[in-house]
Amino acid sequence: MNQLTETSISCPYCGEMIDVLIDPTDMDQQYIEDCQVCCKPIIFLVSESVNGELAVNVYSEDEA
Ligand SMILES: [Zn+2]
Repeated sequence: MNQLTETSISCPYCGEMIDVLIDPTDMDQQYIEDCQVCCKPIIFLVSESVNGELAVNVYSEDEA
């Protein structure tokens, strides 16, 4: 299956909730997307949680 999953994350800079689409092929990969609200670069890390669902963690550039 190769379906995009929609989830929402909280921006590490401004705290706004943002809807994002996760591509399963991005698993274990890190990518950067600018926040739609404050335009700062959010670092996304896609992983698989214990129950097999996709999970995404976000970091600011300072944390990375
Ligand atoms: Zn933001």
